[in-house]
Amino acid sequence: MNKPRILIVEDEPGIADTICYVLASDGLDPLHCATGTEALAALGQGDFTLAILDVGLPDINGFELFRRIQAVRELPAIFLTARSEEIDRVVGLELGADDYVAKPFSPRELAARVRGVLRRVAKSQAAAPAETPSATALEIDGECRRVRYYGQALELSRYEFGLLQTLASRAGRVFSRDELLTTVWNDADSIDRTVDTHVKTLRAKLATVTPDFDPIITHRGIGYAFVDQLPARRP
Ligand code: CA
Repeated sequence: MNKPRILIVEDEPGIADTICYVLASDGLDPLHCATGTEALAALGQGDFTLAILDVGLPDINGFELFRRIQAVRELPAIFLTARSEEIDRVVGLELGADDYVAKPFSPRELAARVRGVLRRVAKSQAAAPAETPSATALEIDGECRRVRYYGQALELSRYEFGLLQTLASRAGRVFSRDELLTTVWNDADSIDRTVDTHVKTLRAKLATVTPDFDPIITHRGIGYAFVDQLPARRP
């Protein structure tokens, strides 16, 4: 079995060396880049399982780097930040980061977070395909993580996909934000706004197909539900 490749983007050589060392001794295959530019180039040349991104990089900020990576491919990420302010955590999680570690951190702690994210990714990839409310209006292929909505393929991020899969698996049922955090993010400690943000981006993508019809219903103060039944023909 191939070792999972981990992309590490960190401009402080001492920290980068420590991370590489601890991950390599954990049976992973780390690749270090000192700048965002270098990292974007490296991404084109290999298949990575996870990225560890320093927020304070010399060329572009780690959040921006994450956005650019996600524009090209879906890659789980853990942010490293020197600042322990809540704002970084919020921004990181809203962007869809999988975890966040504040500097200074112990290499063992980071290694444990990495293992946690890798486990979650493996688990979500193994998840069974969901039952869909209508085989033709919405087709969800859980194995290939592909969605067709009224015949049109949608490019969804991992969390948008998880949200849609979960909501559509039991059409009409209201899912609370906490439930969605636990099911889709596997993390009850995350924040409610994470769900709202991803519902918003998911809706925007569905609206590219059905601009005048929103299949996601907001239950104010409770959560979200998928419509009982999608119209057979595109509304
Ligand atoms: Ca830095």
